Amino acid sequence: VTCRELTAFLDDYLAGELPAETRVRFEAHLAVCVNCHVYLAQYQETIELGRRAFVEDDETPAMPDDLIQAIVKSLKDE
Ligand SMILES: [Zn+2]
Repeated sequence: VTCRELTAFLDDYLAGELPAETRVRFEAHLAVCVNCHVYLAQYQETIELGRRAFVEDDETPAMPDDLIQAIVKSLKDE
């Protein structure tokens, strides 16, 4: 597993959706690669912060119209 592959699989890894064989190689790389170890820690922290913000936010604020328009436009452009 390379660092690039590891970051690509990170979502599946955290979701527990990696096949066992891939997971073993993933964790073997994590054990020896400081960069990926730090990256994973920061990634999990980011997710945790996001989740906490979401839980504390009882009412989902309405999206501003211009933001919606910008998203729609970007989707069309792609
Ligand atoms: Zn790495």
